[in-house]
Amino acid sequence: GYGDNYLHENAYDETDRISNAFNKLWDRYKVLDASREEFVANVSHELKTPLTSMKVLADSLLMQPDAPTEIYREFMGDLSEEIERENKIINDLLDLVKLDKKGANLNIKSQDVNELVERILKRLQPLAAKSNIELVFESFRPVTAEIDEVKIALVITNLVENAIKYNKENGWVHVSLNADHKYFYLKVADSGIGIPKEDTDHIFERFFRVDKSHSREIGGTGLGLSIARNAVVMHRGAIKVYSEPGEGTTFTVRIPLTYIKREG
Ligand code: ADP
Repeated sequence: GYGDNYLHENAYDETDRISNAFNKLWDRYKVLDASREEFVANVSHELKTPLTSMKVLADSLLMQPDAPTEIYREFMGDLSEEIERENKIINDLLDLVKLDKKGANLNIKSQDVNELVERILKRLQPLAAKSNIELVFESFRPVTAEIDEVKIALVITNLVENAIKYNKENGWVHVSLNADHKYFYLKVADSGIGIPKEDTDHIFERFFRVDKSHSREIGGTGLGLSIARNAVVMHRGAIKVYSEPGEGTTFTVRIPLTYIKREG
């Protein structure tokens, strides 16, 4: 009768709805799973690269027991470099994982940002001096903000390190700090090699590098900018890049002066 049919159709609609919802969830899960798989594959690859070199170096030393001391020294120096690389990748990964956790804890304290920037620049001065790069800090006003000092230090360090690494001999890096009533603004500008237009959308992705071999050579892991972006986003801030290939690159970071805790 009429009632039966009505029930039947309703139940049919309901199953359809549930099955649609399930399919949607499943698709989302698959996307998440694929990106996790890709991440794990990338991590394995990155960790294996220095290990493979270490193995080759150690094996070739083992195969020539009468190798002269200079050869030993040279190989040991190379081994030490590879170990350092491996160490850097592991440290960057640990930073990233800490920042990736949903609801990861921020240790918010009122911080003198000028002092923080100055401290970091002082530490990076020797790296800049190595390539004869002029490192300048311009502070427009005193800035005190509620931030997680360790995480914002990662942002500043990664941006300035990149500005030095991807620069030219005798180049410059200009760091500036400004604020209005709501935000502070950090700008890191360099006279370096720049980033091709088609790559600026990708540089914040994990393991992305414009030039893999160049980045490796200078000790890059491809994680620095994703670490920086995660830390900025956790502070409800924004990070942007402007680049002119062959001319230089500017990163701007905007962070709220007062930290507003997320609901829930
Ligand atoms: P890496 O460890 O390779 O430096 P990052 O995540 O810090 O990784 O940066 C990703 C890529 O973005 C780098 O490999 C480099 O190609 C490009 N890049 C980052 N900063 C700069 C810059 N200041 N000038 C030119 N290229 C840059």
